[in-house]
Amino acid sequence: MSLVNLLDLLPSEMESLVQSLGAPRYRGHQLAGWIFGKGVTDLAAMSDLPRELRQALAERYTASPPEVERITPSQDGSRKLVLRLADGARIQSVLMPDDDRLTLCLSTQVGCGFRCAFCLTGTMGLGRNLTAGEIVGQVLAARETLPSGTRITHVVYMGMGEPLASYAATVKSLRILTDPHGFGFSPRRITVSTVGLVPGIEKLARENLRVNLAISLHATTSEARGRLMPVNRAFDLEALLGACRRFPLPLRQRMTFEYVLLDGVNDSAEDARRLVRLLRGMRAKVNLIPFNDWEGAPFQRPALPRILAFQAILLEHGIIATLRWSKGEDVGAACGQLKEAVAAGRGRAAAEVSAS
Ligand code: SAH
Repeated sequence: MSLVNLLDLLPSEMESLVQSLGAPRYRGHQLAGWIFGKGVTDLAAMSDLPRELRQALAERYTASPPEVERITPSQDGSRKLVLRLADGARIQSVLMPDDDRLTLCLSTQVGCGFRCAFCLTGTMGLGRNLTAGEIVGQVLAARETLPSGTRITHVVYMGMGEPLASYAATVKSLRILTDPHGFGFSPRRITVSTVGLVPGIEKLARENLRVNLAISLHATTSEARGRLMPVNRAFDLEALLGACRRFPLPLRQRMTFEYVLLDGVNDSAEDARRLVRLLRGMRAKVNLIPFNDWEGAPFQRPALPRILAFQAILLEHGIIATLRWSKGEDVGAACGQLKEAVAAGRGRAAAEVSAS
């Protein structure tokens, strides 16, 4: 019989679990504290839990984060982690230090099925969804690689895959990350980025999670967006912006619109002015991402003056617009550069085929 991964459980589910094994509820919070708080995954090492409980747990449960297979440091201080899941599939997470922040960019799927034209991950196709345990397990695995005393301060769901296509696992992982008995992250320090799945956005609106939402917009007409992002055929620009307008933003929070700048495709002054009009009246900010290149990509990054001119138009019209110079470009860890061989032959290492 295969063991159930405790990382898939909410702290409240751990309470019920220990009760079902005859222990008092509070043992569940202790168990969660060991795993999510201290990062201890060996049941035998959980010294303040009664031996009988640990033994009963060990018969059917395990706490197994993904295994760190490779760490690739970038010149800019970020690090790409290649993680191996229990079934041998590989995913990537990226640790990005910035002043007093340390952000972990995590994956929600093996590969991605949305095939945005500018994204290398999209060329992989979809392997499978991750479980909630595999999503939060990336935080544990990444934390293990850090010197003691270094804390992950922010989490972004911007790695491989589409968080809202793996909806249940994503929402459960968010609850584990924000639960005071789980990882205890403030929801304001967590950002979920979506390709624009309208039903998922509407469902998320009802979860009361209060995490930040980022929307991959990338074009200012539905026609142009449709050429870049096949998802636009199902949920077009108008439907997407409608769902964004209806999204209940917590006080003082803004919705982020990500906009990859592609030379000669979506980076004109006219585009910038259209973007201003589209976002009028919304509590929005724009995150401009100069295109990160990969081998065989059909796009190019615009020259710097063009990037700055685009940003300037947004700023002139009172729209908060930041430039995201992606981290880890030299090691294939930047936005849109994450790719792993989908499946390795048994016992054989998968060749990394990222654009590094
Ligand atoms: N599936 C989610 C999460 C991915 S987040 C989403 O679509 O939002 C990664 C961000 O990087 C997205 O905004 C994505 O569109 C963007 N991106 C993809 N390929 C890129 C590239 N080559 N250069 C810059 N940004 C890219």
